[in-house]
Amino acid sequence: MSNSKSLLALMVSAAVALIVVSNFCIIYMLHRSASTAAELAGSIWPIALPTTVAIVLVMSILHQSLVDVLSRLERKEREASQLARHDPLTGLANKRLLDERIEAAIGSKSRSSDGFAVLMIDLDHFKRVNDLLGHQKGDEVLKVAASRLESLVRAGDTVARFGGDEFLILARISKPQEVPRLCNRIVAEMQRPYTIGDREASLPASIGAVSAANGFARAEEYVRAADVALYAAKADGRNCFRMFTDDLDASIKRRSTLELDLGHCLATGDRICIHYQPQIDVTGSVVGVECLFRWTHPEFGAIPAIEAINVAEETRQIDGLGDFVLREAARFAKEHPLLSVAVNVSPAQFGSRSGLLRRFLKILKDAGVDPHQIELEVTEQLFMRQNDRCEEQISELREAGFRLALDDFGTGYSSLSYLRRFKVDRLKLDRSFSCEGQAGDRIAILRAAVTLAHAIGLEVVAEGIETLDQEAIALEAGCDILQGNRYAAAMDHGSFENFLDARNRKVA
Ligand code: C2E
Ligand code: MG
Ligand code: MG
Repeated sequence: MSNSKSLLALMVSAAVALIVVSNFCIIYMLHRSASTAAELAGSIWPIALPTTVAIVLVMSILHQSLVDVLSRLERKEREASQLARHDPLTGLANKRLLDERIEAAIGSKSRSSDGFAVLMIDLDHFKRVNDLLGHQKGDEVLKVAASRLESLVRAGDTVARFGGDEFLILARISKPQEVPRLCNRIVAEMQRPYTIGDREASLPASIGAVSAANGFARAEEYVRAADVALYAAKADGRNCFRMFTDDLDASIKRRSTLELDLGHCLATGDRICIHYQPQIDVTGSVVGVECLFRWTHPEFGAIPAIEAINVAEETRQIDGLGDFVLREAARFAKEHPLLSVAVNVSPAQFGSRSGLLRRFLKILKDAGVDPHQIELEVTEQLFMRQNDRCEEQISELREAGFRLALDDFGTGYSSLSYLRRFKVDRLKLDRSFSCEGQAGDRIAILRAAVTLAHAIGLEVVAEGIETLDQEAIALEAGCDILQGNRYAAAMDHGSFENFLDARNRKVA
């Protein structure tokens, strides 16, 4: 508007200047041939008038064309700015606009008591819609999700899409309680099924939220914090929201660091090793070991085995970890041909494409060890997967000569039907059997479990024996093998050799 006004003023001034100059030239050219002023005036008008009209006409045409060009340019500029700040699919704000608005909200918060929250929303399993029904249907779902989100926020709030199925909201809030309320409303709304063609699909949402109370100075810090909280919401089973906290931040940083570093450790063997925990028979002789994975991280120190296994399972590095453990176990077995060597195998190592048997046999062949010397410890979780392939794999492993043990019996369902369906050689009774409850009850329960195991031909290992009392109970109940800190905690290779020497000297 102001552009076209100044253009008009410019054109009028240019026209006036042209008229003045042209008339001046006309007067100058005619004044010599005219003898009187009246004659001069009479001869000027026929030329000056059409010239003036022509100048006005040309200038107004020129003005109109310039106005057209200018407005076209302005429209293009507006469109470019809209495109640069909006998501073309949903019309929502994009990252750039949301960042600008968060920065503005941070600025206004420092000047007043305004509060705000940033929410990151992810549609659970959206990828399946794309994979199963195609990207066009996926786009339709995203548009519906976008309009649902817009309907839940107040005027002045910003709903943005960062690409994929990742949405963000910048919401003005006046009380901290408003954040969980908004998150709950979103979770409830997003649970409503979507109609996709002739199907209905549910795509609940996970939300990570962070409020201005965290006092970050930059938009990207709020977005990262919301992302951290979203990760926690997904880890907590999805279809829920989590608020960002500093503790959460630390635990997620730890997790991401471990996820990144494990691959390198498995590839190089740096900072990972196996510790060996002895297994003792009723005469007190060491008859075997359980191999346990150990990882010492440069920043976090000793990582609990369970955590390391979880990281490996989630990042699909469990096969690499399992192979590393078996290779170490096989080396150990070769040095101690009279000991039974147990390794834990995660349910994630089983499955249709794992090639578990082939890889395990190759590792043992390379080490020159017979599978009979190796015991694979599996847990009930594997049996609960209802997967025929797992059942087959267990049979194949046993047929190849591996012995199988059911670990942690007593912590899950302790189902007898699993024991009938999946053939194993040993039952490892969890430490809760020998250390929880009254002594009399413990013996009775333990004895019942042992009798049952013996009746179906299984050997019984009592795990986690720490005290003389627990040892007495386990022996009284008829357990065949004992394992626990009473004899020795898991230890490195060198310490195990010393332990074995000392023990053998004692027996001799
Ligand atoms: P698990 O297979 O039941 O191993 C026994 C756990 O009990 C070990 O913990 C061991 O250090 C601990 N333990 C042994 N004796 C005692 C005792 O007297 N008292 C107490 N309180 N604890 C005792 P760790 O090494 O932390 O391993 C925990 C779990 O991590 C293992 O339970 C196993 O499920 C898993 N794990 C460890 N190494 C591996 C591995 O190489 N592969 C797989 N897939 N899982 C592993
Ligand atoms: Mg075990
Ligand atoms: Mg166990």
